[in-house]
Amino acid sequence: MSKKSNFLFVDCSEAATCCDKAQYEEADFLEKIKLTIHLMFCKTCRKFSKRNSKLTNLMQESKLETCPEEKKNQWRQQIKKEFAEDRN
Ligand SMILES: [Zn+2]
Repeated sequence: MSKKSNFLFVDCSEAATCCDKAQYEEADFLEKIKLTIHLMFCKTCRKFSKRNSKLTNLMQESKLETCPEEKKNQWRQQIKKEFAEDRN
């Protein structure tokens, strides 16, 4: 493959970086494209991406100032659970 035709095809570690950036709206257009293409053929990263966005949502919700401490602890437990499940 020539460089020109495969520059959009990134490896898993670069896809993970793009994924992290995308979570925080730091990814540029090209990075989002690369990530999308990678996710189309990489099952592992699709799983990672899905889990990542789930965790981001949980963390954003847990950061809400109106959120009581009890609720925050609940989120933390859930986040721990997500990681524990992934190791199985
Ligand atoms: Zn991958």
